[in-house]
Amino acid sequence: MPDEALLLELLNSAPMVDGVPIDELRGSGAGDWLREHGIPGPPAAAREVRDAVAAVVRGQVPARSLQKFLVDVRQVPAISVDGVAWRVEGARFPARAVLAWAEVQARLRPCENHEECTLFLIDRSKANARRWCSMSTCGNRLKARRHQGRLHD
Ligand SMILES: [Zn+2]
Repeated sequence: MPDEALLLELLNSAPMVDGVPIDELRGSGAGDWLREHGIPGPPAAAREVRDAVAAVVRGQVPARSLQKFLVDVRQVPAISVDGVAWRVEGARFPARAVLAWAEVQARLRPCENHEECTLFLIDRSKANARRWCSMSTCGNRLKARRHQGRLHD
């Protein structure tokens, strides 16, 4: 799985289900969830980076709060007749998630159905104007609610 997709799965591991917040990274299923996604444990470490990136994406804390996950990452130059090629070293899991965030941050945002949904989306469209994790769920629900609101005005 590409790191961006993995990051999205990680961010979306704390959904709301019928109005109840669920956390896949807590409880007995957490180890299985991490193994299925190829993320080394422990769950607490995965939760820490997930919650840190989520807070940045929601605009609650500045991006520099993610710096601590990158302390072991460095670029190493390898010189050849073609010039210098830079290789990233030390980007293991928490760092990989943060680097993936850096790649997609302009297209990664929370679903606009804030009241009922805690999911995130990566918008690949040219317009980059997608607002809902899923049109069929959150998009339709919000449209219906706004429509009802207008009727009662
Ligand atoms: Zn949603």
